[in-house]
Amino acid sequence: MQKFVSPSFWQTAFTCPYCGVLAQMNWECLYEGHTPDINYSIHIAVCQACFNYSLWQRYGFSQNGKSQLITEILYPKLSAIPPAEDMPESIEAIYKEASNVLGDSPRAACALLRLALEELISYLKDNSEKCKSLKGKNINEDIKELVKLGLPTEVQKALDIVRITGNNAVHSTKELDINDNPEIAHKLFGILNFIVQEMITRPKEIDNCFKTMPENSQGKR
Ligand SMILES: [Zn+2]
Repeated sequence: MQKFVSPSFWQTAFTCPYCGVLAQMNWECLYEGHTPDINYSIHIAVCQACFNYSLWQRYGFSQNGKSQLITEILYPKLSAIPPAEDMPESIEAIYKEASNVLGDSPRAACALLRLALEELISYLKDNSEKCKSLKGKNINEDIKELVKLGLPTEVQKALDIVRITGNNAVHSTKELDINDNPEIAHKLFGILNFIVQEMITRPKEIDNCFKTMPENSQGKR
């Protein structure tokens, strides 16, 4: 998986919300202005991989004698990488819902991704010959089982994050504030896609490969 760098103000390179490449960004200040209370400026960042742009604002004001400076992305609405091609429809719907809320609440996105993971496990249990040993009752047990079934152990670590953050997202304990760590949510999208590729796409490809073998090469005369 490519390193994910969340977009931030005047950062020279970040993961482009359009093309998903960790690309250099060319920044320019388009306008600076002020009202009696607020100084503001509008900035553009152009991706050097796909040449799409994002728009940003910075504004400053003083509050209780302290000066505040806020920077935020105005456009586009941040969203996740697209779902893997073979993602089952019901899971894809949750994935897209998570992507839609990602910009406003990474925590809500993580909670939805945990649900998507549970649905995916239950889908694999019912539809994949290889994954019959999944139980669909306890997400921890099933994650371990998925690793036994061939997912790399690195994925277990990552999935443990889904599990923990998912729990936190739902039960709002404060061990790890997901809203302060949008990279976590972004990673989870990638992991979900990875599981779909490993457990659905790859077996299908291998299957197709054998189906297209000439009869005699399978040992039949
Ligand atoms: Zn781009």
